[in-house]
Amino acid sequence: MLYKDIPYWQLNIEKPEISIDVTPREGDVIIIGAGFTGLATALHLLRAGKSVILFDAMMLGDGASGKNGGMVGPSLHKLGLDGLTAKYGKDKAIDILQEGMNAIKYFQSFIADENIDCDLVMSGRLRGIIGKKSLENVIRDSENLMELDGFGFDVVDGENIHNEIGSDLYDGGVIYHQDGGLHPQKLLFALAAKILQLGGQIYQETRVGQISRTQTGFEVSTDKGAFRAGDIVIASNGYTKRFANHNLSFFYKRLLPITSAMIATEELGKDTIDRMFPKKRMHGGNHRLVQYYRASPDHKRVLFGARGTDANDRSLQNGLMLKKHLCKIFPELENVNIEYSWSGKVAYTFDHTPHLGKQDGIYYAIGYCGSGVTRSIYLARQLSRKILGLGDHHTSFDDLPFETKPFYTGTPWFMPTVLKWHSFLDHINGN
Ligand SMILES: Cc1cc2nc3c(=O)[nH]c(=O)nc-3n(C[C@H](O)[C@H](O)[C@H](O)COP(=O)(O)OP(=O)(O)OC[C@H]3O[C@@H](n4cnc5c(N)ncnc54)[C@H](O)[C@@H]3O)c2cc1C
Repeated sequence: MLYKDIPYWQLNIEKPEISIDVTPREGDVIIIGAGFTGLATALHLLRAGKSVILFDAMMLGDGASGKNGGMVGPSLHKLGLDGLTAKYGKDKAIDILQEGMNAIKYFQSFIADENIDCDLVMSGRLRGIIGKKSLENVIRDSENLMELDGFGFDVVDGENIHNEIGSDLYDGGVIYHQDGGLHPQKLLFALAAKILQLGGQIYQETRVGQISRTQTGFEVSTDKGAFRAGDIVIASNGYTKRFANHNLSFFYKRLLPITSAMIATEELGKDTIDRMFPKKRMHGGNHRLVQYYRASPDHKRVLFGARGTDANDRSLQNGLMLKKHLCKIFPELENVNIEYSWSGKVAYTFDHTPHLGKQDGIYYAIGYCGSGVTRSIYLARQLSRKILGLGDHHTSFDDLPFETKPFYTGTPWFMPTVLKWHSFLDHINGN
């Protein structure tokens, strides 16, 4: 069985026309990476009258921003209120969590103000839970979060779970109302089109190698020659180490690039999709090996994602494994074909927090820990305001130390073992 090794999102979508014009070779700002972070940062800078040149080592849409599950939400911190309080104290913990609420609020106004058609629907997310004890813990953690401005949730018990999802797997769940879903490539291409309209330059398949200081700023080397700018922005997230020269080692030593993989089923009947996703919500579970799934925006297919366990990103290997997990949730999909299987890189950080700021004169926003759709758009706003010297650029991540670990060089060689361990724990816990 062969799957199409491209994101389902490429189906019936028109890419903006990007012409190659290697002039001018100088701008106010050079941005490395044309995903959501790079494009949204460019948009704000262009609107403020700056000239911007974006470089991407791959084709537009081949980074994580064109391949993700399209799930948006506050992406609240993995450690939760208790974990963050233990690490930073209660006030800071609340600040960090509140940043997630700020991000999703801003994200929705950004999409509305920019008039971007990307199938955004804020239909909420169901976190299905296996195990009564686990459900109690998740409810308690969610109650803790009621201190956050704008946060709300509902509990679904085992008897009512079928009103939310056509699966017998869960003993209950929690609905997060601040979440929703969109079509990521529609968002990506809409941003790129706006940048081109505003006179921004986008160079695809153009890797930035060496970065050197000049008297007035920086010079970068690419295979299309050298380019200069007053400021540089690193927006390379999970691909930083793959394409970097040694002079970006500060960044890649602080990022753990991890594969996230997805599959899309063939088109299914409306009744089947309606039964599985009666409320058109986004979905997740309490597996250690993170799982996320939803119906496609046209409500015809199931899209399912998890951490990719195939180190070589082979679509067949990842696809087979993902289908196995999917069929535990929906056994009726056993005989359904998987049409698309793809994967991309996300970037984790050692403190599970994204980071933005300036290092050795270079601006950066990276490390979204697998949840970057909302946060990249929000941090791009804050970062561009820092670059422009405008107020209201503060985030609660600004003063957190950007940690690395001794001997870590940017390649998380230990991850396959960690993933196998998580998979084993899920297995013995019956997940
Ligand atoms: C399969 C998958 C599913 C996901 N699902 C979700 C989800 O449902 N919800 C959610 O919130 N998040 C999700 N994510 C994460 C989310 O997609 C990312 O966090 C987000 O897109 C990061 O955006 P970015 O612009 O920072 O990085 P990217 O979109 O990865 O862009 C970085 C770009 O930098 C370029 N680059 C790197 N180095 C260089 C260099 N030296 N020169 C030139 N170019 C360079 C790369 O080519 C790449 O295109 C998912 C990710 C994946 C892979």
